[in-house]
Amino acid sequence: MSTRHGPVKPPRTVHAMSSSERPPIEPGPVQHWRIGDATVTRVGEVVLTLSSNFLLPDLTAEHLAANADWVGPYFDGMQMRLSIHTFVVVSEGRTIVVDTCAGVEPGRMLPGDPTFPDRLDVEIDGGLAAVDLVLCTHLHFDHVGWNTRIVDGVRVPTFPNARYLFAQSELDHLAGDDPDDLASSDVRPLIEAGLVDLIEPDHRLTGEVRCVPTHGHTPGHVSVEISSGGQRAVITGDATHSPIQFRYPEMAARRVDWDSERSTATRRKMIANYADNGVLVMGTHFAPPTAGHLRLGPEGAWFDGSA
Ligand SMILES: [Zn+2]
Repeated sequence: MSTRHGPVKPPRTVHAMSSSERPPIEPGPVQHWRIGDATVTRVGEVVLTLSSNFLLPDLTAEHLAANADWVGPYFDGMQMRLSIHTFVVVSEGRTIVVDTCAGVEPGRMLPGDPTFPDRLDVEIDGGLAAVDLVLCTHLHFDHVGWNTRIVDGVRVPTFPNARYLFAQSELDHLAGDDPDDLASSDVRPLIEAGLVDLIEPDHRLTGEVRCVPTHGHTPGHVSVEISSGGQRAVITGDATHSPIQFRYPEMAARRVDWDSERSTATRRKMIANYADNGVLVMGTHFAPPTAGHLRLGPEGAWFDGSA
């Protein structure tokens, strides 16, 4: 039987900032990678600096000091640098957007950037209209936030020609336990408009790109593996929020995980699957350099962002 724990979500308004309080938007650089014949582009919405305690309540200064030789890009003292970005994957002539960032709906916990859709449009060959598939690794607000947008007072899909892919199990969970996320303006209107395809957690998007189940953070959470020309990469989603969790896989995002025991098991499996074998690990919330390689050292796994 399930041993799931209910998520302990902070109230949605706790960290909301008024526009006058918001720091300047820092999206980080546009980054490009090639995996065989496929390409991946990072387009940032915002790189935030926030209390590590918010996502990783078990993290201490001692953890960071013990890993000071590699965690520098991801922390500023006990503050975590948290990136919210989209990965655009081009594979076999298909343009795939993996996660659509936070958006600017009122009341969301983290500030999005109203200029993000226009910046993303510039970075995609053919623009937003050329996107064939939008895959949401899960349905938390910072992964669906720009699924839709308001144009001339009307809510429209941000990617007008795309099919949106949600895991069936993720949607089932929302219907039972998290109706707020289901009712989100970036989820329900797309379902009602018939623009969503419900997928299994091992769904294949192209011959090179497939989902892999990485549940724990949410019940239907998926990561994305890319395999082309003998090269491999994985997009983590929120199976891990910070590279430090590879060193300490039991260090869970307990306040926002659906089931932290399962998210810990998922991180251990990812280390087994992706460490020391050349797989490029692309972190959905990792501040730049964003992608790197998992290495196994005498103390455990660590993340090498230099490669
Ligand atoms: Zn997230």
